[in-house]
This record gives sequence, structure tokens and C-alpha cells, in this order.
Amino acid sequence: MKTKKMELYVHIPFCIQKCNYCDFCSFQASKETIDAYMKQLYREIGFWGKRLSGTMLSSIFIGGGTPSCIDAEYICCLCECIKEYFAWEPKIEITMEANPGTVDQQKLQKYYQAGIQRLSFGLQSTKEEELRYLGRIHTYEDFLNSYELARMTGFENINIDLMSGIPKQTMTSYEETLRAAASLKPEHISAYSLIVEDGTPFAQNPKLEQDLPSEEDEVQMYAMTGEILGEYGYEKYEISNYSLPGKECRHNLGYWSGIPYLGAGLNASSYLDQKRFDNPSKMKDYLELMTFEKPWQQAEELSIEAQIEEFMFLGLRKTEGVSKQEFKEKFHQSLDTLYQDVIENAIKQGWMKEKNQRLSLTEQGILISNQILCEFLL
Ligand code: SF4
Repeated sequence: MKTKKMELYVHIPFCIQKCNYCDFCSFQASKETIDAYMKQLYREIGFWGKRLSGTMLSSIFIGGGTPSCIDAEYICCLCECIKEYFAWEPKIEITMEANPGTVDQQKLQKYYQAGIQRLSFGLQSTKEEELRYLGRIHTYEDFLNSYELARMTGFENINIDLMSGIPKQTMTSYEETLRAAASLKPEHISAYSLIVEDGTPFAQNPKLEQDLPSEEDEVQMYAMTGEILGEYGYEKYEISNYSLPGKECRHNLGYWSGIPYLGAGLNASSYLDQKRFDNPSKMKDYLELMTFEKPWQQAEELSIEAQIEEFMFLGLRKTEGVSKQEFKEKFHQSLDTLYQDVIENAIKQGWMKEKNQRLSLTEQGILISNQILCEFLL
């Protein structure tokens, strides 16, 4: 393989209970399944470690699911296994997702000693009624305990996930959630708006529509997120991500910048040597995989058009946008020439702006980002 530097994503698909809005690859599982899965995951990491020897990891993200709901020993073994098989940059960022109510002091100490430096807590809301509606397993107090324990353990880099557009959420309750989270001074806040995905309990709830905030409120909530977090010193660096200066998530930034990545575990996606490939999405198929090379062998190399679209889609999510120079170096053609009409129109409408040879979405453009990004399909 030609890949010299990449990110590693490891998927732990287990959760204590399924949330009402969740369409991620996550579920409850028996001890036996968890054990079999983790062993297969170590095998997969060993396989890719040998296959990609000479490749340097720039970041590791252990996500899910809820990685913190399984025995901490599994996570320690996972970190050992990655260390054994991969070389990594001295300043590597290692993040793990944790849910409030699933960690205690002992677990946190084990994660810390295993080398995890960054935790991402899924809080979503500080309001009990909203948490219950979402089907979260924790209360706000559970979160506060987990957060405080993490700080006491020594974690100096913490993200809090928040959500807008929750059923029964009001402008006031969302503002209170934002202020309460920001007052704790986490290094990073991700604030996504709820999307009702097909196949989830929310999508089948006939009462949901009447409880959802109006579209106008959602637009206002988005604007309010930037304003309020700005008061507390957070800067927006991507459509839904805010950080204190210098505390952007390096894993996310790498992904939006097109760094190759390996996804290990159930349903995980990878992008290596311009090829995208996915692991099996069914547990039985994943556990029965004898060679992890199979999904890679079946993958097709992305066409230049697909690579350009990906570059634009991911790059325009970042506040700094895309660099015309980088585009030229990568694709040997001019961004302005290829997308002349699209860019001219978007700038005229006030949806995009250009500064220092970089093109980015304006605040107005972000509100209709899906529509604008579609214009960049070739
Ligand atoms: S904790 Fe996260 S992954 Fe698990 S069910 Fe809830 S939203 Fe899905």
C-alpha cells in the first residue's frame, strides 16, 4: 500500500439501550458476543498492522456505540494491540466516546493509563424531559458526575455532544443547555441538530411531529449556538463543531481534509489508496471473516470525479473552507474553471465567500449547505 499516514477509527457497536433517534450500528449484546467481537477486532488490527507496516497513525478514535459500556480491560487490550502493531506520530490524538452513567473512577483511570487522552461525552441535553424523550439512559446529574470524575482523573481534553431540534425543546431550554455545557469549559463542543432517520422509533412515532421545534426555531437554534458558544470563547471550525482555540478535534479535521483512514470493526468504512471499502454490517458475517483483506479486494478505486466531489463536500464543511491551491496540486486543474457557474452564483447569492484563495460557506450558506453541496456533484 502507498498510504504513509492515516487515521484509525475503531468501532465498538455495543450500547446499554437503543436511543429513540439512533440509526448507528449499535445494539445490546451478551458477554459472549462482546468477547468474541473484541477478539476478532484484535485480529483485524493485527492483520492491518502487518499489512500497513510503515504507515504512521496521526489519530485514533474509538467510537460506537458506547465503548465505555464494556469492561475497561477490553479497551486496555485494544490500546495495547494498536500500540503493538502500528507506529504513530509522537503527538497522536487518541479519543474515546463515553456515555454518562457508564464510567466510574476505575474505568477512567484505566483508559487514561492505556493512553487515551481525549474523551467525548454524549450529553445531548441538560433537561431531563428531553433526555427521556431521546431515550438516553442517563440524567444530567449522571453526566456531571462522569465529567467531574474525568477531570479528576486527569483528562484535559473533553468534548461534549449536544443536540438541537429535540422534541419538546424550546429556545429557552436549548439556551440553558448551551450555557450549562459551556460553563463547564470543555475543550470542545459538538452541536448537531436531530435528524429523524427512517427505521428509528422516532420515525414511527405519530406524535413526534407536534413535539418537534418549528423549522424557524431550528434555524434560530443554529444561529444561537454560535453566538452563545462564542461568548464563552468557542470558535466554530466546522458546521457543527466548536472548540476553544487550538483544541479542534484533529481526527475530525484530518477526515474533512481527506487524510486516508482505516476503519476497524463492524460496519466500519475505510479509505486507503483512493479506495473506499466497508466491513460487513452483520455481526455474524464480521465474526466469520477469515481474511480482513476481502472488503479491500472488492473495492473499486474512486474516480477522479468522485475524489473531487469528496474534496468539496468535506472541505466546505470546515469554516476555513477549501484551498484553491490545494485543489490545483491535487487534481491538476483549476477549481474556478471546473465550477465557475456554481461558484459565481453561490457568491452572488451570498452563500459562499472567498478569502486568501480559499472558498467557504457563509453563515447563510451553512443553513442550506445540503442544497449548495449538491451543486458540486459532477
Ligand atoms: S448511545 Fe449513541 S450509539 Fe448508543 S443507541 Fe444511543 S445514540 Fe445510538
